[in-house]
Amino acid sequence: MGVWETDTYNVAACPCGKGHVQRIVETPDNGWSRTNESYELACADCEKAWEISSYSGTLTDRQTRKESGQASAVSQAASAAVVEYLNSLLPSWPFPSFKTQGTEFEYLSVKGLYEGTVGQYRYQRRAQTLHDIAEVGAHSSIVPELVKKVGGMKKYESLVAEAKTAKQTADTKYKAIKYISLPQGK
Ligand SMILES: [Zn+2]
Repeated sequence: MGVWETDTYNVAACPCGKGHVQRIVETPDNGWSRTNESYELACADCEKAWEISSYSGTLTDRQTRKESGQASAVSQAASAAVVEYLNSLLPSWPFPSFKTQGTEFEYLSVKGLYEGTVGQYRYQRRAQTLHDIAEVGAHSSIVPELVKKVGGMKKYESLVAEAKTAKQTADTKYKAIKYISLPQGK
C-alpha cells in the first residue's frame, strides 16, 4: 500500500451552519490505484442528529428514521398477529378425507393453504402430515369461510383493523424521514 494524498473539500454547510459536509478525496501515490472519494459530516452537533452517507453525502435525520423503524416493527407485528390468529383456527377446520395425495394437494392449493408444486408437496408429505404442511396466509381464499365457521368475526376484524392502522402509521412515518441531499454538481 502506498502513501495516499488526502484532500478535503467543504461542499456544503451543515444543517446548523457551524460546520460543513466535506468531500474527502484520497489519491494513491501510484498510477494504477483508483481515487477514493467519500463524504463526512464535520460538525459535532449535527453528527448527533444526522447520519451521513459516505457514498452520496446525503444526510438522514436520526430521530425520524428511528420513529419510522419503530412504526414499521409495530406494523409487521400487527400483520403477523392476523396470520397467527388464522393459523390458530386451522386445526378446527373440517378437512374432508382425501383418497390420494393429489386430491389433498388440489384442495390445499384451491383454498390457498399451500403454494408449492405437486412435486414439492409429495416430497414434504413423506415426512409430514397434511396438517403440518397446510398454512393460511392473510390472502388465502379460505379466510372468510375459516373465520365464519371456526373463528370469531369480531376478533378477526379487530386484528385486521389494527394491522391496517399500524400499516398506515408506518407508511406515514416512512415518508416523514427527513433527508438533506447535497446540492447538485458538488
Ligand atoms: Zn452543524
